[in-house]
Amino acid sequence: MENVLKNRVVIKYKVVALSDMHIGGQSGNMPAGLDNPIIKDNKGKPFVPGSSLKGVLRSSFERLAKGAGIKVCDLDEKRGGCGNCPPCLLFGGGHKSGAIKIRDAFITDDSGKHPYIRDGVRIDRKSGKAASGAKYDIEVVQKGAKFEGGMVVENTATPDGEYTILGGLLSLIDFFNEFVAGIGGGTSKGMGHAKLAILEMKEFTANDYLEGKFNGKALDLEAVKTSACNSWMQYLLSRLEGKNEISEQ
Ligand SMILES: [Zn+2]
Repeated sequence: MENVLKNRVVIKYKVVALSDMHIGGQSGNMPAGLDNPIIKDNKGKPFVPGSSLKGVLRSSFERLAKGAGIKVCDLDEKRGGCGNCPPCLLFGGGHKSGAIKIRDAFITDDSGKHPYIRDGVRIDRKSGKAASGAKYDIEVVQKGAKFEGGMVVENTATPDGEYTILGGLLSLIDFFNEFVAGIGGGTSKGMGHAKLAILEMKEFTANDYLEGKFNGKALDLEAVKTSACNSWMQYLLSRLEGKNEISEQ
């Protein structure tokens, strides 16, 4: 993120579990015998960490970009990204934070769904896949659970358009829903099938600030999406390998 705020789009999003879902948490505070608890907030309610969502969106995008011949850096734990390639632009890397922040999504009260213990599937913590061997208990959030949270996108414009960066996020959400649709562990066993939806978007600009308007304006998803996604595709085309080199830091 630049050290300048031109505009900020605040998004309310929803995650719906289309199958039982397991996003792992700490096993310390769980009943004996259960070694695969889900992550919960301080009231004991399950939530979807924004970092999990960001992780799955980023890794899906990295694979997609590489497949399309766009140069992306390897996210290295020590150096943490180049700060200059498309995934770093969206999600951060190097010394730069990304344009997109994803906050945690909390289970909605009307969800009526509660975690339960499911057995017979062992999840390998490293790979996130079901492992063979002894039967293990696993805690899951029930199919049908609904979560709501927020995302923030700052400085959405590039020379390609006013909402280029927002287009990057919206196109990734579509890609996730159509072709990934998985979050957490056990996705190869049919768990973690999930759908993401945008509930509302509001924009606040630096000019609004000058005019003393602090409520922002509602952005109509359908009205903004097509041109935003087109701008993003223009940006990506300009990043095709050979056209632009990544500067190593
Ligand atoms: Zn990078």
